[in-house]
Amino acid sequence: RAALSPTVAGGEAGESLSLRPQSLAEYVGQAALKRKLEVFVRAARGRDEPLDHTLLHGPPGLGKTTMAHILAHELGVRLHLTSGPAIEHKGVLAGHLTALGPRDVLFIDEIHRLAPTVEESLYSAMEDGRIDLPVGEGTRARTIGFELAPFTLIGATTRTALLSGPLRDRFQIIEAIEFYGDDELAAIVCRTASILGVPVSGAAALEIGRRSRGTPRIANRLIRRVRDFAQVRGARSIELADATAALLELGIDSEGLDMLDRRLLTMIVENFRGGPVGVEALGASLGEPRDTLESVVEPFLLQRGFLLRTSRGRVATMKAARHLGLELPPGWQG
Ligand code: ATP
Repeated sequence: RAALSPTVAGGEAGESLSLRPQSLAEYVGQAALKRKLEVFVRAARGRDEPLDHTLLHGPPGLGKTTMAHILAHELGVRLHLTSGPAIEHKGVLAGHLTALGPRDVLFIDEIHRLAPTVEESLYSAMEDGRIDLPVGEGTRARTIGFELAPFTLIGATTRTALLSGPLRDRFQIIEAIEFYGDDELAAIVCRTASILGVPVSGAAALEIGRRSRGTPRIANRLIRRVRDFAQVRGARSIELADATAALLELGIDSEGLDMLDRRLLTMIVENFRGGPVGVEALGASLGEPRDTLESVVEPFLLQRGFLLRTSRGRVATMKAARHLGLELPPGWQG
């Protein structure tokens, strides 16, 4: 076998499309969710109806967009993609909605970031299949109602709490996408490696999976970076030693924590006596927006027991202190 060749190492953007699983069967993990969605899709197809409006929530990179692609594919309809911030006004929304064919899927990523007036127009589209648009100006101004083809809205959000009640209530299917287990991530690493044409040992795949913060997008990023290290070293395949050496260089520790995770936990222990500390104060001290902490950083730390969320703020756990080799101060309230 030849050493990992530069021709195998393509750009990330071009590869991400082919890395996307195309069917529910190819989508790794999320077994319970897949079982339910398979039933909903078959039932909707059997009735010749669109799938009910569906909200997918969970931290970034867990495969919400991928799932929307798959659902459209399994429904045999087209997927139209947009995001909350991209729909600047009602007219843009109307443009998307009127372009939909019967039973098509409109996917709105970051749906919690819709402007309030846009969100209101979406209510009647979801509920009554129509949208009212103002036409003309001054005394001749009036609104015209457009009938829409029956469609499915799939909304994605990092946290349902960010969504307004009236919008949430209009989704008939609300499902969480959870962090992936180590074995599932190892399977995703193996799948990606084989698509990229890079041999990877089982032990290396598991190590990369284990350190991917429960997130397929991170697993896919790490396998590419580990491949770079192995390739430059002239390796023929990725072995456990390549993976651990590369992960060390990348600043990903044995628990999969990255730089920001460690800075956050260290900050709580050293500057805030282990907590509790409010998320605003934490964000200001770290120079990170509150939303990034709450949606991207904290969910994994909470899930793995490095952090507690209490009514008085965030608290670093004993596990966090031990992992970082830090002492919790006397009187620590964890
Ligand atoms: P965001 O919410 O930030 O848009 P996302 O949850 O929509 O993120 P995706 O873009 O769908 O995440 O997925 C990230 C990458 O991980 C994709 O390139 C996809 O190939 C891969 N991926 C996600 N879920 C799976 C899965 N279950 N099996 C295999 N690969 C997956």
